[in-house]
Amino acid sequence: MLRRVLYIDLTTGESWFEQRDGLFEEWLGGTGVATQLLLEECPPGADPLSPQAPIIFSIGPLSAMYPVMTKTVAQFKSPLTGELGESYAGGRLAMAMRFAGHESIVIRGRAQRPSYISIRDDEVKIRDATSVWGINAMRTGVILRDREKGVGRRSIIRIGPAGENLIPYAGVVVDTYRHFGRLGLGAAFGSKNLKALVISGTEDVAVPESRRYREVYNRIYNMVVQTDAMDKYHDIGTPININVLNQLKGLPTRNFQSTSFSEAENISGETLADHYLIRRVSCAHCPIGCIHIGMLKTAFTEHHEFEVRKVSYDFELIYSLGSNLGVKTPEGLLELIESCERWGLDAISAGVVLGWATEAYERDLITPQETLGVPLQWNNVKGYIKALENIVKRPNDFYSALARGVDYPSQKYGGQDFAMSLGGNEVAGYHTGPASIVGQTVGVRHSHLDNAGYSIDQKAAKKQLAPSAMVDQIIKEDDSRGVFNSLVGCLFARGVYNEENIVDALASVGINKTREELDVLGRRIFQEKYRFKVREGFDLARQRVPRRFYETVSTLGMVDPETVEEMLRLYRQRRGW
Ligand code: SF4
Repeated sequence: MLRRVLYIDLTTGESWFEQRDGLFEEWLGGTGVATQLLLEECPPGADPLSPQAPIIFSIGPLSAMYPVMTKTVAQFKSPLTGELGESYAGGRLAMAMRFAGHESIVIRGRAQRPSYISIRDDEVKIRDATSVWGINAMRTGVILRDREKGVGRRSIIRIGPAGENLIPYAGVVVDTYRHFGRLGLGAAFGSKNLKALVISGTEDVAVPESRRYREVYNRIYNMVVQTDAMDKYHDIGTPININVLNQLKGLPTRNFQSTSFSEAENISGETLADHYLIRRVSCAHCPIGCIHIGMLKTAFTEHHEFEVRKVSYDFELIYSLGSNLGVKTPEGLLELIESCERWGLDAISAGVVLGWATEAYERDLITPQETLGVPLQWNNVKGYIKALENIVKRPNDFYSALARGVDYPSQKYGGQDFAMSLGGNEVAGYHTGPASIVGQTVGVRHSHLDNAGYSIDQKAAKKQLAPSAMVDQIIKEDDSRGVFNSLVGCLFARGVYNEENIVDALASVGINKTREELDVLGRRIFQEKYRFKVREGFDLARQRVPRRFYETVSTLGMVDPETVEEMLRLYRQRRGW
């Protein structure tokens, strides 16, 4: 297996490979390797939008070798938080990188004019992208697919106008329906004049000719397809959580003013599956197919023909652009999701920003002059669609403030108590209890996926867990995900890839690690990420928790601020900080 890093300098137009066996041996791959490359490449204090700030992509040693090892990790300095930017995407990118022979890619510098990178196996070209600059992310994908025809396994990742305009929560669209959504990778692309990256690979991937590989592969594959470990992701998909969380009083509604939504059934996974779902698709090398595609049928004009658009939906989007904005209809929800997709905005951040703006408008903290007459009201889908356009185009100070994420406008106009961010990142769709709040605050990327605090709360709802036990579980998840994310597997398969299967799968491709060694590695990877965060100014002791979390009932009842404080104190203590 090739264990090399492809370096691309957009300023000089040069590219080269470096064999980094030691790096991969020590840090496995994926997030472990990407963190080291980020520490090497990013000068302390670098402006996230400067040519000095790099973009790094990494896959893992099992990518394209085992089922559901489908993700690629991107690391960068986040334009949203000013510290660690880390985002994961599926699609075909990991497969294309593997077949092109690149386990990590480092992008440095800034191109002189709008450009895209074209990689075909070892050949790297920086091509002119002037003709697609300003074009939305979906259309850009179609144009580049045509322009970059060729053989091999190909992946196209690109930004929309939000990334070009350096919106700190712009994402990168990956192939069809997948994204590097969070923490502003799209703006990092835009700052480099980088519209897209197209990669195709024709190399063979030599799978080990051993009986052991076949045995372990079959065991894992059978667990994926013949047990119920991943069923829920295929059937209704993650949107099944809408009705579940609604019943548990954990579904954020109208900017977390409530945790149950009277119209939840209308936008639930079940309703969407019954009336709007037209197909499910999969990332390459995944037999599950959890990506649910809905049909949005709209008239061109009154009494005229219909057009049909395909929109991918999942739980987080239904929360952020649905219940969190009081949106009651599937059509309104799908329109908002599609709007974020076209502009290339992170839908979670966009929904949280609009939720804050709606409440601020309701409370007269902002005026119709500031919104340019756009009615920011719950369930006003047309108003929200116009606001999203204004966020990307920034026609005045108010929309420029919204374009910076929810923290900034709440400092400027008031309403910090209901500006729903943790660690500077807009929050995910759970108000389940203290573990969710603490988990997102301490997580390396301030995401619900860092340590699944929401799931710890739900366990606590069934069987009482003391705050210190919850902290222990958060730490355990933080560390174990360091290993799993170095393999860059889909987190939906974490029940399949238990410790035994990870050890056996690695051994089958010639990487011999014991469980104990992997535990130590997970902790070290976590610490290395915190090394970067602290170096760039993150201070866990000074994090703000919005009051709204303490004013709205959660799955575990009202959350006591002292419990959260105590858990944060215990967390720092257990980490030795
Ligand atoms: S379960 Fe879904 S997100 Fe995960 S790899 Fe499969 S299709 Fe992709």
